[in-house]
Amino acid sequence: MDNAAVEVVEKVNLLGLSRVKMEQFLVEIGEKPFRAQQILKWIHHAGVDDFELMTNIGKSLRAKLQQVAEIRPPEIVSQKDSTDGTRKWAIRVEGGNLVETVLIPDGHRGTLCVSSQVGCSLDCSFCSTGKQGFQRDLTAAEIIGQVWLAIKSYDAFGAKERTVTNVVMMGMGEPLLNFDNVVDAMGLMMDDFGYGISKRRVTLSTSGVVPALDRLGEVSDVSLAVSLHAPNDELRDQLVPINRRYPIAELLAACQRYLDRQTDTHRVVTIEYTLMAGINDSVELARELAEVLRNLPCKINLIPFNPFPHSSYERPSKVAIERFWEVLTKAGYVATVRTTRGDDIDAACGQLVGQVTDRTRRSERYRELQAGPDPIRIL
Ligand code: SAH
Ligand code: SF4
Repeated sequence: MDNAAVEVVEKVNLLGLSRVKMEQFLVEIGEKPFRAQQILKWIHHAGVDDFELMTNIGKSLRAKLQQVAEIRPPEIVSQKDSTDGTRKWAIRVEGGNLVETVLIPDGHRGTLCVSSQVGCSLDCSFCSTGKQGFQRDLTAAEIIGQVWLAIKSYDAFGAKERTVTNVVMMGMGEPLLNFDNVVDAMGLMMDDFGYGISKRRVTLSTSGVVPALDRLGEVSDVSLAVSLHAPNDELRDQLVPINRRYPIAELLAACQRYLDRQTDTHRVVTIEYTLMAGINDSVELARELAEVLRNLPCKINLIPFNPFPHSSYERPSKVAIERFWEVLTKAGYVATVRTTRGDDIDAACGQLVGQVTDRTRRSERYRELQAGPDPIRIL
């Protein structure tokens, strides 16, 4: 048979299209760009995944959309509820792998912890995601799909009170290594025709991919969190291997540049510091941290280490955590200790593992990152 004759055109998944891309798509199929707003509202305000339900769109356009497009969220394979109200989903993405998403309700607030990659290539020594290896980047549809599924799961599209008021890109993966898809998805989180969440409530957490952080500052103004975990390069090199490529001084300078680009002058970077007993929790290191952050507008979030199977670190005692916190507070920092949520369902920071079938790609990607002349090319 002639192959050209059986060409199968893959349908475009509209779930992940930013406003601009939705407009482009509509123009490409010969439609008016203003339809983008209507379709976005159906998908992200009303939670609709069936074109037939889009009543303000004419029959012929609906039929056309049916042929060339789809609204396809990833699939929930399991849902676990913690006694503290935290809910964790395992989500199957194309190719069969699983990623995890967590919703942490707190009064009127609902913080959704979203994954950006299947696994992670950066191999931080204390992180179970890193230990899983890297499989692939999530698509924009798979990233924003986590928000969509979370709201759907509570049957809360159109509800008066929002289910998801805050999003943190702190699930599986390094969001800056999946740059375009993460930026598109965060755009939808903040777009009024998407989820309308303010830039102060959308936070990207990075382990410090400096060139990508600079690029982020050019295209986005989301809140920034940086995983520091150590005040000097000798220690950070061991905990966060990407530090060998982008050491602390370069990373903090990039944080400052990020803040300098923001129009809002009161913004700060959140410094994340996972506390591990006997590793990075001494009073001396707290003092060194206070010193190294002296010139950066920041607040510090201390995360007591969350154990996972075969992890070699331990959570410090309450006393040690308080001692560390006190040094920072006395030095004038706003420091908080992140309370562990969803402990009983393995939903705490660093415990998300999903399922990664091919672990070989981590080393490839990591070697590339270590050796590449131009790191931006891997983005
Ligand atoms: N890759 C990004 C975002 C995902 S990790 C990053 O590294 O910033 C989200 C946060 O959880 C990071 O600060 C990470 O260092 C922290 N974390 C990872 N494993 C942890 C563990 N076992 N216990 C406590 N925090 C952990
Ligand atoms: Fe990747 Fe972040 Fe885990 Fe490091 S801490 S391995 S960058 S997910």
